[in-house]
Amino acid sequence: LFSEQKKALNPIIPKDHEDTLFDKIVRKQIPANIVYEDDLVLAFRDISPQAPTHIVLIPKIRNGLINISAAEERHKEILGHLLIKAAEIAKKEKLDDGWRLVANNGVNACQSVYHLHFHIIGGRPLGWPPG
Ligand code: IMP
Repeated sequence: LFSEQKKALNPIIPKDHEDTLFDKIVRKQIPANIVYEDDLVLAFRDISPQAPTHIVLIPKIRNGLINISAAEERHKEILGHLLIKAAEIAKKEKLDDGWRLVANNGVNACQSVYHLHFHIIGGRPLGWPPG
């Protein structure tokens, strides 16, 4: 945990042409447990699940979207698509009792991968406020 937090405190912001871990998952160069895929987005199970269901949902192409803070008008369509797919995935995972959609933004939020992603978390009661 400490090394993860340390990494998050020293964020590696990728240049537009540089890969992140998630680009490698999109290209299937790193194996992932994929739960949903279409032309625009990919959803896979988090390697370090924080709840019985913990899925990471990403746009396949980063296009400047390192996180929600980087969102611009030009990202409207992909952002809408991601939210609609998040709802569909939660339904398919039977998270009917409640679930959470999380986007960690920047150092204080412990963002570790600078390619926009939503965490779909559920399958247990989730406390509030979050840590
Ligand atoms: P962040 O901390 O919000 O940036 O989320 C990145 C997430 O990616 C973390 O929850 C990690 O556990 C997860 N993760 C890192 N590497 C992999 C992997 O290879 N497969 C699936 N999930 C991963």
